[in-house]
Amino acid sequence: MPPGNSPQLSKTRFMAGLQCLKRLYLECYDRDLADPVDETQQAIFDTGTGVGELARERFPNGLLVEERYFEHSQAVRTTEKVMSDASVTAIFEGGFAFEKIRIRVDILKRNDDESFDLIEVKSTTSAKSEHIPDVAIQLHVLEGLGIPVRQAYLMHINNEYVYQGGAYDLEELFSLQDVTEEAREFASNVAPDELVQMWEALDKDTVPAVETGPHCTKPYRCPFYGHCHQQVTEHPVSDLPRASRKFIEELKGSGIEDIREIPADQPGLNALQQRVRDCVVTDSAFVSQELQNRLREITAPISFLDFETFNPALPVYVGTKPYQAVPFQWSLHIKSSSGHVTHEEFLCEDDEDPRPALVKSLLNAIPPDGTIVAYSNYEQTVMKRLATELPAFEEPLLALCERIFDLLQLVREEYYHPQFHGSFSIKSVLPALVPEMGYGDLEIQHGLIAAIDFGRMVAADTPADEKIKTRDALLAYCQRDTEAMVRVFDVLCSIHV
Ligand code: SF4
Repeated sequence: MPPGNSPQLSKTRFMAGLQCLKRLYLECYDRDLADPVDETQQAIFDTGTGVGELARERFPNGLLVEERYFEHSQAVRTTEKVMSDASVTAIFEGGFAFEKIRIRVDILKRNDDESFDLIEVKSTTSAKSEHIPDVAIQLHVLEGLGIPVRQAYLMHINNEYVYQGGAYDLEELFSLQDVTEEAREFASNVAPDELVQMWEALDKDTVPAVETGPHCTKPYRCPFYGHCHQQVTEHPVSDLPRASRKFIEELKGSGIEDIREIPADQPGLNALQQRVRDCVVTDSAFVSQELQNRLREITAPISFLDFETFNPALPVYVGTKPYQAVPFQWSLHIKSSSGHVTHEEFLCEDDEDPRPALVKSLLNAIPPDGTIVAYSNYEQTVMKRLATELPAFEEPLLALCERIFDLLQLVREEYYHPQFHGSFSIKSVLPALVPEMGYGDLEIQHGLIAAIDFGRMVAADTPADEKIKTRDALLAYCQRDTEAMVRVFDVLCSIHV
């Protein structure tokens, strides 16, 4: 039993406690220390809410317990009434409380034998191991209250579902996975001990002393990540590109927090990590002998190309699947052999499938010869997918793919600057190579935000003035991406060993 003055636990707090007792403690007593929820996280929450609401429609004659989360006692009373009404075949968001644990159950389906099936809805495309404790704590509460639970399910999105237009086929869109055995096992053998530890931690006057480590991002990034990871060194060892968590922990375990403290003969560094270490220690850039030869592979007219895509959990275009990436925008800077630069762009502004118009406009705008420079292989992936999805354009799209040059790969292999801080993304490379240029002045500063804002812009209920504002912000963002590539390319061309 929990101590008398302990705070209530919830599903979220239980999951927090499993990740880290310090996180649980801060969730309960010092929530203000959490990182602010950004637009991307909010979009993930909103997706979860939308998917959860849609999932309920698969259970006709169900009843929603409407009380909000902070009205838990009233929600429990309403749920008790609904539970005793046999005509209600499913209860959505039912509220329950047992031994200071409060839960809301996504769906509780009534069976003919007076038992219930517990259904937890997830917006993921598969059931994951971290979902089991989430179901288990609900089983613990329901069975603790004497409610007979026959089966426990995770209901997730089926990523093989192909949208046919109109209303979703909910039988096809959602998959149910029976997790009764795993959840019962966790509820019986793991949850009780974990709960004891959580109550003990919460009963203390001091925050549990937990070091940062891999658990800070596993299974989810902790909301107190910023609080616990306030950077004290300029070049933390976590800046080493693609270093495993284990290796970082080993370095920290031997007292090495900053890359400058890594000995030259440190075992375990790969060639790139060694290069990064050497550049940081000597505070100088690495320039490969091959840099200029590689740049000469790029021939004029040079087309600097960037796509923006969005991947809604619930497909919106006929023929697409959940989470399928759909390009809606491109920006193209063209640099002629004389060095003259022009700009072309496309942005879908209505709720039609953007792909046909996007491809036609690109094929019209892009020069018939010369190199197409992209930053990463993503543009090539998008064009190859479009070639499959729009067979009428297969040949010209695949021909464009043949002309693509990946500038990111060139930078990764032939150049390094200590101010890259271990990252080769355009947003890390640009400030080091073109300090006067950045994204700070833009309304949209990240591709994920662009995707979210595009979804909002084409939504029917978005006011016209907001659509215009978003359109301008999207155009400015994508244009900056290709402009940045032009500037990075120019700087690289001027660097010699
Ligand atoms: S950031 Fe890491 S150490 Fe800090 S509370 Fe979260 S999980 Fe625990």
